[in-house]
Amino acid sequence: MVRDIIIWPDPVLKQVAKPVSRVDDAIRTLLDDMAETMYAADGVGLAAPQVGVLQRVLVIDTSPRQEGQKLIHLVNPEILKTEGVTTYTEGCLSIPGEAEEVERAAKVWVRALGRDGKPFELECEGLLAIAVQHETDHLEGTLFVDHLSSLKRELIRRRMKKLKAEKSSETAAEVKSARRHESAL
Ligand SMILES: [Zn+2]
Repeated sequence: MVRDIIIWPDPVLKQVAKPVSRVDDAIRTLLDDMAETMYAADGVGLAAPQVGVLQRVLVIDTSPRQEGQKLIHLVNPEILKTEGVTTYTEGCLSIPGEAEEVERAAKVWVRALGRDGKPFELECEGLLAIAVQHETDHLEGTLFVDHLSSLKRELIRRRMKKLKAEKSSETAAEVKSARRHESAL
């Protein structure tokens, strides 16, 4: 089921998400809904707080823009190690139509539980490394605009408020109709 994506600014997006105690059917349904929602919005990553669920759950699929990738489910993800520095022009499904250059680690190692509840570790490079950092940020209530200057952030906040005011809905329908960056996370 496609869920509604919350548009920034919204207090839900600023909260810290809680760890998942057990990967059960409810979490698997959440993972499946999140993947469906991400694909419907042409995104390459989605964090549970973006659909209003304050749990540490992510889905990422960079395969449209990165060779050899596939859908990844991450429950309680933890970045173990980072290496190098890179910049990438990031978008966000919760900030439709906006994209700004953000500095990130070039390579990250992440540990998480999968859809089966089993732990796994993943070495990430390129867009996948960017996506893992962008999405784990969401679990801490941090958005890519928080990495920008306050001036840029305020300009984007004003545009988002205007966008929300123009539309009757603040959710999925709005995301679909808004102009999107090609690597929205
Ligand atoms: Zn995002």
